Amino acid sequence: MTAPKISFKNTRKVFGTDADAFVAIGDLTLDIADGEIVTVVGPSGCGKSTAMNMVAGLISYSAGEVLVDGTPVTGPGPDRGVIFQQYALFPWMTVRENVEFGLKIQGQNAQERHETAMHYLSLVGLADFADAYPKTLSGGMKQRCAIARAYAVNPSVLLMDEPFGALDALTRVRLQDQLLDTWSKDKRTVMFITHDVDEAVYIAHRVIVLAANPGRLQEIIDVNLPFPRTEEIRLSPEFTEIRNRVWRAVYHRPERAA
Ligand code: ADP
Ligand code: MG
Repeated sequence: MTAPKISFKNTRKVFGTDADAFVAIGDLTLDIADGEIVTVVGPSGCGKSTAMNMVAGLISYSAGEVLVDGTPVTGPGPDRGVIFQQYALFPWMTVRENVEFGLKIQGQNAQERHETAMHYLSLVGLADFADAYPKTLSGGMKQRCAIARAYAVNPSVLLMDEPFGALDALTRVRLQDQLLDTWSKDKRTVMFITHDVDEAVYIAHRVIVLAANPGRLQEIIDVNLPFPRTEEIRLSPEFTEIRNRVWRAVYHRPERAA
């Protein structure tokens, strides 16, 4: 078996100190394989974003370890691309300049940056909008620009925190298919947080269900559905069965059954 791409080993995260200490993640152990797409679901506050931000190197862990390629995470790096729900584009830069931003930091010259940016803008269907400013774009287009920007620096891990959460259902489905199309070519490792159970099942190899208070692993649900994922799969009884299992794991409240 190959070494995992991402590992949580008895990872614990406590915010604050002493009387103000809050255990966001109690003890999380989880391996994510190279080239795997996992989705992370669970009730609000169960530590989904905290877990991802520790992989991104944006927040530290309090105990245990978070490893990427077997190396403890100590800060952000170009091997990990992060995409948040709010598009976080620079409003004073054009679409292309936004995508080029990370490449400049990587030391690419103007010509290389231009070519790389245009390549990824074409990939997300935004080539015609390269010179537009973010404020003139729809929500879906802004998010595609953010995706192009994350892809352009060529990270081996994509960390996506409810990236399609603010978009309408149709745009969401399109972006899910686009993510899978791209993945089928580059097989990056993807950790994708969502509160949409259908989305969680549709794009994933495995759905990680977290529980709250303190944040911890509740269940891992294998999505034994073939790739490429299609509309036919989305509408199949097998899909519905897995979807219902995830729904129950996240939302079922036994104490309210009576
Ligand atoms: P999720 O993404 O699953 O909704 P989060 O990872 O954002 O949950 O948060 C997990 C818990 O940690 C929540 O109870 C949240 O209030 C708390 N938390 C998150 N960030 C901080 C912080 N910087 N300081 C204190 N508590 C925090
Ligand atoms: Mg969150």
